[in-house]
Amino acid sequence: MNLASWLAANARLRPNDPALLVGRRVVADYAHFAARVSSLAGWLTLNLALRPGDRIGLLMANVPEYLISLYACWEAGIVPAPVNAKLHPREIEWILADAGCKAVLATTELGQSLRPEDPRLAGLNIVDVESAEFAQACSQPGFGAPPALPGTHPAWLFYTSDTTGKPKGVMLSHGNLVSMSLCYYADVDRPEAADAYLYAAPISHGAGLYGFPHLRAGARHVLPESRGFDAAEILQLAPRLGRLSFFAAPTMVRRLVDEAAAAHKPGKHFRTIVYGGGPMYLQDIERAMQVMGPCLAQIYGQGETPMTITALSREMHARMHADPAYPRRRERLASVGVAQSCVDVRVVGDTGHPLPAGEIGEIVVRGPTVMQGYWNNREATQEAVQNGWLRTGDMGCFDEDGFLTLKDRSKDLIISGGSNIYPREVEEALLAHPAVQEVSVIGRHSVEWGEDVVAFVVPRPGEHLDTAELDALCLESIARFKRPKTYIVTDALPKNNYGKVLKTELRKRLLQAG
Ligand code: AMP
Repeated sequence: MNLASWLAANARLRPNDPALLVGRRVVADYAHFAARVSSLAGWLTLNLALRPGDRIGLLMANVPEYLISLYACWEAGIVPAPVNAKLHPREIEWILADAGCKAVLATTELGQSLRPEDPRLAGLNIVDVESAEFAQACSQPGFGAPPALPGTHPAWLFYTSDTTGKPKGVMLSHGNLVSMSLCYYADVDRPEAADAYLYAAPISHGAGLYGFPHLRAGARHVLPESRGFDAAEILQLAPRLGRLSFFAAPTMVRRLVDEAAAAHKPGKHFRTIVYGGGPMYLQDIERAMQVMGPCLAQIYGQGETPMTITALSREMHARMHADPAYPRRRERLASVGVAQSCVDVRVVGDTGHPLPAGEIGEIVVRGPTVMQGYWNNREATQEAVQNGWLRTGDMGCFDEDGFLTLKDRSKDLIISGGSNIYPREVEEALLAHPAVQEVSVIGRHSVEWGEDVVAFVVPRPGEHLDTAELDALCLESIARFKRPKTYIVTDALPKNNYGKVLKTELRKRLLQAG
C-alpha cells in the first residue's frame, strides 16, 4: 500500500488530464505531475542521501511543490512532516528537531525564517522549493514505480498541540490515510474526475488530507494564487473552474458566506464545501445553506484519527436544505453526524463502559484510521489509545438514531479560526514576564473566530502590568494567532483544594462581565 501508487495509476489512466493548477492556469497534467514526483524522489534519494523511513519537514505556503514533495516522499519511502506555516519559527524549529528531520523543503520566505546555526538543527538541509535547483531536481530522470509498502509504513507525521504545551507527532500510516480517503467516498461525498479540489486552508492539516480522495478520483488540484485562504478569490474561481470542492474551518466558511452574500454570488458552482475541525454554530450553518445552496458537508475528526470520527454528509445536508420539515432538522444540523463507515465510535463513562443514548461521556474511537502512536512518546500513546480505543478527550452524546452531538472538550483546548490553541503554551509564554506571578488562559465565544483567547493575569506584589509588554512577549515565542485578545488583570485566581485553577469559575466571571 503506497499513496504514491494512486498518482502513478492516474498518470497511466488519464495522462493528459489537468492535474495541477495555480488559479485557472494548468501547470501540469497527470503524466507531468507523476514525472516530476518521480524525479524528485530520485533526487531526494541520490542527492540528499535520504533513506526509507527518514523524515523530511515540509514548510510551505499552498503551492504545487507541496503536493509534488508529498508524493515524492512516498515514492522514496520517506516520511513527510508537514508543518503548519502559521507557527512561530521557534515552534517550527522545535518540531523539525523533534521529528529528527534531515531536510526541510520550504518556500523561500518560510525557509529564511529558520536559524540553521541553532544546534538543534545541526545537519538540517534547507531546500528552497522556489529555487532553480529545486526545479532542476524535479526534471531529472525519474525514479521508477512507487514501491509497495506495508500498510503500517508511516506516511505523515502530523504535529498536533497538546495540553503540556509541546506538540506531539501523530504517526499516520499509508493504511490510515487510505482508510480515511475511502471514508470520504462513503460518508462525505463521491468526488469525480470532473471536479476541482481547492487547497484553500493549510495543506499541513485537513485541506491536505482531503487531497487524497480527490487524487484517487483524478480531479483537478487547484492551488490558489494567493497561496492561502481568500474568500473573494474563491468566489471568482468557482464559476471559472466549475464543480469546486474544498475543506475549511468554520471561520473560513463563514467569511466565504459573508462575501458571497454581499456579492450576490450564489454557490451553484461549488460541488462540496466540507467544514469541520471546530464547532460551527447552527445559525451559521443555516445561513451557509441559504447562501451557498446544498453543497455543504461536515466532518468531525482529530489528528489521531484524521477527519474520521463522524460525518454529516453532503447528501444529508442537501435533504435538510430541500425539506424544512425534515425530522429533527435543528438537532441534526447542530450535531456532528453519524459514525463514519470504517470506525466504531462510542460514548463512555468514567470507567470506560459504553453509555446509552442521551448520556454525555467521553468519545472514543476504534478502527483503521486510528494513528500508529505518537512519535517517540510511548507514554502519551498508551494514555491516548487503550485496548485499541482512541480517547478523543471530547465529550458528547449520541441520540437514538446514532447522531453525535459534541458538548464540551474535556481538555481545555481553544479552537480559534479552526486552529488549536492549548492554554498551557500561552500561559508559559506569559509567565516568562518578570512581573507576572500567575496566569490562566481560557477561550471565550467569538462570532468571528469561534473562540478567542482571554488571559487572566496576576501581577507580582507591587508590580504594574503593561499589557503591551505581555503582547510583545507572546510575539517573541508563540504564533500570532495564539496571542490573547483580552487581558484581565486580577488579584488572585480561583483555585480548588489541590491548588488547581478553576477554569469553570473564570468562564463564569467572563460571562458575568458580559
Ligand atoms: P485537530 O487534532 O487539530 O484536528 O483537533 C481536533 C479537535 O477539534 C477535536 O478533538 C474536536 O475537539 C474539534 N473538532 C473537530 N471537528 C469538529 C467539529 N466538526 N465540530 C466541533 N469540534 C470539532
